[in-house]
Amino acid sequence: MYLDHFTIKDFRNLEKLDMEFDPNVNIFVGNNAQGKTNILEAIYFLALTRSHRTNSDSELIRFGCEYATLLGKVHKNQVEINLRVAIAKKGKKVWINRIEQSKLSKYIGQLNAILFSPEDLSLVKGAPSLRRRFMDQEFGQVNAEYLYFARQYRQVLMQRNNYLKQLLKNQAHDLVFLDVLSDQLAGIAAEIVFRRFRFLEYLSTAASNAYKNISLDSEKLTLVYHPSVSQIEADDSKEKMYQKIRANFKKIRDSELRKGTTLIGPHRDDIEFRLNQKNAHLYASQGQQRSIALAIKLAEISLIHHLTDEYPILLLDDVMSELDHERQSSLLNYIHGKTQTFITTTDLEGISWEIVNEPKIYHVK
Ligand code: ATP
Ligand code: MG
Repeated sequence: MYLDHFTIKDFRNLEKLDMEFDPNVNIFVGNNAQGKTNILEAIYFLALTRSHRTNSDSELIRFGCEYATLLGKVHKNQVEINLRVAIAKKGKKVWINRIEQSKLSKYIGQLNAILFSPEDLSLVKGAPSLRRRFMDQEFGQVNAEYLYFARQYRQVLMQRNNYLKQLLKNQAHDLVFLDVLSDQLAGIAAEIVFRRFRFLEYLSTAASNAYKNISLDSEKLTLVYHPSVSQIEADDSKEKMYQKIRANFKKIRDSELRKGTTLIGPHRDDIEFRLNQKNAHLYASQGQQRSIALAIKLAEISLIHHLTDEYPILLLDDVMSELDHERQSSLLNYIHGKTQTFITTTDLEGISWEIVNEPKIYHVK
């Protein structure tokens, strides 16, 4: 799939922009604070109706304006799809081929995008919540069921936490109702954990391949999923997972009642990245951590291709300057001819562009 025509209006510092993209490589070059990242953020928003750097949509509207608009023409399976997003301070609206979609979940997935920016380094180094967010975002964009269960989970989790708080404060006393909520939550949790195992298994193999290609070191990268219900195993059936989560809720009931919150479930899971079986969080060098984060992004390209038969578009924000020459070349080689790629940089010099066939270059001022 690729993004062909793109129009931006009043998004961040971009007043009005109209662009025809190259199906292969597009480069945005310019000094700091000109709007390069803003263009990538706009493309990402068109795909996922979310920004990668803020949760507050109103920040995206150009200062002094009422709303921002994004319009994109996407080519997918020889079909042309027109996407439109309007962001207002009160909320956002989306259209596919001029038909307004009442549910974002119907819209997400029309254009798949993977973004890699320096902040992604924190995927390896940062808190577990970042890795959970990563799973929910990336699996949600390719699997509508995952997206659905992740939403359901958040709702029921909030309900259960509220009820546990009421029990703690003696404002509620019905433990049977707690069991009802526990069963409900365990059912949804099993749906999520079951899928996480499968997607992560695929990602682990793909990331290991990508790492070999871009890192040039001989160490092997693996991803290990750590569900918070540690008794769960990868090849358990969904029903078995459900039973194990339920049993765990029973076991830890007293501590949950004491703490007034839900202590196990997908909202407490984590992923471990390992290089030659050693925890990368603790032992990998800065450069290795960067290569791991990039390998995971590249692995997602394979995952999306595997699940949808289409390559997503790839957005690389300020990544090239962080890589040495050999790594730049292997990265460009790896993506060459597969995915439409958008790259930002402050300087065209010093990057091995020779692998890329006539990229389209935009000077951003
Ligand atoms: P760098 O090379 O430093 O990463 P960049 O070209 O990627 O720079 P951006 O982050 O795309 O820069 O753009 C930053 C500019 O956008 C800043 O000048 C900032 O003040 C401006 N900006 C951010 N949000 C808004 C907004 N809502 N309205 C108008 N301008 C905004
Ligand atoms: Mg930038």
